[in-house]
Amino acid sequence: MANITRNKTGRRGKLPPEYALFVLRKLKKAGFEAYFAGGCVRDTVLGHRPHDWDAATSAPPEAVLGLFRRTVPTGIRHGTVTVLSGGMAVEVTSFRSEGAYSDHRRPDSVDFNCGLEADLARRDFTMNAMAMSEDGGITDPFGGREDMGRGLIRCVGEPRRRFSEDALRMLRALRFSAQLGFELERETREAIEECTPLAAALSAERVRDEFEKTLYSPRPELAWRLLSSGLMDAYAHASGPAPALSSLPRYARLAHVCHELARRGDIDSAGEFLRRLRFDRRTVRTAAAAAEVLASGSRDFKRLLRDYGPDAVLAAWPRSRELRRVLASGECWRAADLALGGDELRRLGYSGRELGQALSLLLEHVIDHPEDNRAGVLCKLITEKRERYGKNAGDAEG
Ligand code: ATP
Ligand code: MG
Repeated sequence: MANITRNKTGRRGKLPPEYALFVLRKLKKAGFEAYFAGGCVRDTVLGHRPHDWDAATSAPPEAVLGLFRRTVPTGIRHGTVTVLSGGMAVEVTSFRSEGAYSDHRRPDSVDFNCGLEADLARRDFTMNAMAMSEDGGITDPFGGREDMGRGLIRCVGEPRRRFSEDALRMLRALRFSAQLGFELERETREAIEECTPLAAALSAERVRDEFEKTLYSPRPELAWRLLSSGLMDAYAHASGPAPALSSLPRYARLAHVCHELARRGDIDSAGEFLRRLRFDRRTVRTAAAAAEVLASGSRDFKRLLRDYGPDAVLAAWPRSRELRRVLASGECWRAADLALGGDELRRLGYSGRELGQALSLLLEHVIDHPEDNRAGVLCKLITEKRERYGKNAGDAEG
């Protein structure tokens, strides 16, 4: 593994990729200071592979825009410019310090005339407040490495003040704890307990992002803690102990959380809960349907598949061998897979509502008798039913 080396952190970390180094070098060549900062430094020190490389620089945003050929002014007001380098994106943020936060969300003012240390001081946790130079030298003014060594998440500065500046940091603390397996340092934890009500003002999107990252982490139970701690009271307050989530595949976790909340009476409807958290429509549909599947208590998989679709049934019963068997068997559980289709039924004189009913009736039969899913058998079956009950055979069968 050529890209793993012992850098100046004294730990085994992944070296920054060429496209990211290129950005630092170019900034430095133009006479500015430039470092990697934030999550990528944390991950490097931990020996994890950062999923993106963010840079902090003394260059003002306009200078960054002028220096690189391909840029996107992503958050120019906050000093962030995305630089496209080697087909990848590097977020370059000008050193900035922040004024007071009167709305508990955004600083009233940002000051770009500051150095690296002030920039690091505005960051949330000691482990996220480190910078790394091109050659791997680490700037760590708040003891991030020491805290990481002890597995602790600690606020930079006074925790109560930091959480009242931006309440999202409380959710981030739990999220990082879930992702990294770290614990919250005592003062940080106590401040969260005190400042919890401030989270009510956060936007749904920001809350949802942290909730999802926690749910899909190695410690998804902490997503339940987000819900039971009061931090997500604007959406739901979970009662009782966390259900087992870590043994579930990721795609099943949200549905099981919804089911548990509904079962305990903590939410009225999974769909409503998810919509208010602004999950996308597909996620809302699937997770809410899966929660209904679980609530039904049914294990009649073919009928569940017919009524809710495979994504929802799988999310409800991800470990069921019988469900896997049904899905792999090719046995018919939806009208589209019947050996006798709409065209044939039309030829037999069906149309409109009667046609739909005939298909439902055949499907009901085939679900219990997969061996009968052959055009000849189904044709005979529907003709018999029709002779017995008339065209509205479906109604007669209930
Ligand atoms: P991830 O691996 O999830 O991307 P990250 O630490 O990189 O984690 P980002 O949201 O990408 O998180 O933020 C990048 C950096 O910006 C953080 O490491 C931290 O230094 C700073 N930061 C982000 N959000 C906040 C916040 N709400 N308050 C203070 N600093 C923050
Ligand atoms: Mg990041």
